[in-house]
Amino acid sequence: MIPELAAHRHVPDWQQALADAIRDPAELLRVLGLPAELPGPVREAEGLFPLLAPRGFVARMRKGDPHDPLLRQVLPLGEECRVLPGFSIDPVGDGAAQQAPGLLHKYAGRALMITTGACAVHCRYCFRRHYPYAEQGASRSRWSETLAYLADSPDTDEIILSGGDPLTLSDAKLGELVQALESVAHLQRLRIHTRLPVVLPERITQELLDILAETRLKVVIVVHANHPNEIDATVGAACAALAERHTVLNQAVLLRGVNDDARVLAELSERLFAHRVLPYYLHLLDRVQGAAHFEVPVDEARKIMRDLHARLPGYLLPRLAREVAGTAGKQLLGVTE
Ligand SMILES: *Cc1c(COP(=O)(O)O)cnc(C)c1O
Ligand code: SF4
Repeated sequence: MIPELAAHRHVPDWQQALADAIRDPAELLRVLGLPAELPGPVREAEGLFPLLAPRGFVARMRKGDPHDPLLRQVLPLGEECRVLPGFSIDPVGDGAAQQAPGLLHKYAGRALMITTGACAVHCRYCFRRHYPYAEQGASRSRWSETLAYLADSPDTDEIILSGGDPLTLSDAKLGELVQALESVAHLQRLRIHTRLPVVLPERITQELLDILAETRLKVVIVVHANHPNEIDATVGAACAALAERHTVLNQAVLLRGVNDDARVLAELSERLFAHRVLPYYLHLLDRVQGAAHFEVPVDEARKIMRDLHARLPGYLLPRLAREVAGTAGKQLLGVTE
């Protein structure tokens, strides 16, 4: 490589950190001081949905603990290969709700755009682990079709960027998208669903903050942390930087062996609040093939919520919710009966 040219091609730190993420289960186990031999089914699970975990996230895992709640979210397990009744490829009916390339318009006033298939981490329980991004994402070449649909939907006042993870887009692409969206006159709010502030906080750069500060749209950021150990000082600073100007909320998924405990969830809410993030949803698992071992039954979920209610002020309680294909919004589950 010609050194002079290399010096001009600056790769942002977050993109470098993403390129350096751990992709090999044996390496992940070695880094954590765990035995690194992998049984056949683990290799098979890895083949279905590859491991991806940024080193900064891995650094928050406890060394030598095979049951670490962060490790459990990213390590492929043989259980994922089981095909069970009731667990499907598209549990939330997204395939049927598509109105334009990568645009899901299921709920009144809000449209959701699948901007990219890329994430900075692969969560084993993800309901989009089988999503056909290549055919159904709103890739940049098709943004104009998506925008034309939005321009024709005057009752839509909120656009939700989802994925994959929209913050894996470069600042250039994201800036271009935000500009295109703000030209749709009836849009008022821009919501970004992202796990990057938690798994790759380096992503919250001044350039990104500037893009968000400059738009006329009201910005809502919904991050995704499931366990208090995910939130260290760096993550906290990234969230607080976003919260300087924007509303920042957290959604979590209730996961067996990760956060199925009111004490853990209470600590999660408190730690989020310390960095100006409020809890939004606690989702029941979407019944996606390969994630059955994470499921917490609904009666137990309600019991955990009652316990949480007894521990926390109302504003630190997430709403227990689940997605039911074909309904007008997420289903909110009552806690008291
Ligand atoms: C979850 C979701 C939304 C947002 O729902 P809120 O209850 O407003 O958070 C919008 N569109 C789709 C397709 C969704 O899955
Ligand atoms: S970051 Fe979100 S979209 Fe990506 S794998 Fe995790 S849960 Fe799924």
